[in-house]
Amino acid sequence: MNLLMCPVCREQLQFEGKTWRCENNHSYDEAKQGYVNLHVVQHKHSKNPGDTPESVQARRAFLGAGHYAPLQQAAVQKIRELRIENLLDIGCGEGYYTSAMSHEVMQCVGVDIAKNAVQAAAKTNKGVTWVVGTGSTLPVLDHSIDLCTSLFSPIPKAEILRVLKPEGYLMVVTPGPQHLFAMREALFEEVQAHDPHKFVHQLEDAFDLAEELLIEAPMTLPQQDLKHLIAMTPYAYKAKAERRKALEEQDAFSLTAQFQILLLKKKSA
Ligand SMILES: [Zn+2]
Repeated sequence: MNLLMCPVCREQLQFEGKTWRCENNHSYDEAKQGYVNLHVVQHKHSKNPGDTPESVQARRAFLGAGHYAPLQQAAVQKIRELRIENLLDIGCGEGYYTSAMSHEVMQCVGVDIAKNAVQAAAKTNKGVTWVVGTGSTLPVLDHSIDLCTSLFSPIPKAEILRVLKPEGYLMVVTPGPQHLFAMREALFEEVQAHDPHKFVHQLEDAFDLAEELLIEAPMTLPQQDLKHLIAMTPYAYKAKAERRKALEEQDAFSLTAQFQILLLKKKSA
């Protein structure tokens, strides 16, 4: 079954030739890299949505080196246990987590606002339906999805509730309290612990917390990998330039990434 929804009339899209088309004849060509752009103009809020090419490149290099593999493995393991048919990954980026998770499910859709990230994702895995789109209109049909995932990405609650099947799941991955603490200490005068549970409170009217896991990934980064990490985090452009420069000049830097996985189950109506 095709999961994609026409963003104009909300009917199902069928794939014929190289084109996704609904019964009202709205059509969306597949790009040569193997993704489809369902980001229709009236939903555009920002002139330059999503990530810069530099941050996409830095993230690909850093993730490709395997530093966050413990999180990737933990997410994959959890999905295997849940026996998921249809997965929607919200904010899939260049697909590092999406691709690994897709092997555990029947159908996988990855969506991101950043076209350059989706292009990179589509080149690496033809087994996922890659979509340029937004959280304000998720690109799939009502009640079609068993699990929505949002790793370091927005959580459009109303849309997630629309697309999830009854008793479907939402997996949120967010920085743990001590995530990259040593790096943040090097960049800022004052460092506050992250509060992953704020998401549970924001979602508790519609979801029950089924499980939570804290995943740690200790690492010692050579200078190039450290620069990639600095470039891919939101901390980089908030820090003072001289502090960032001093950190980037270190030959090696030891720190620990900490991830909170929150598994939430949609409340029965
Ligand atoms: Zn249509």
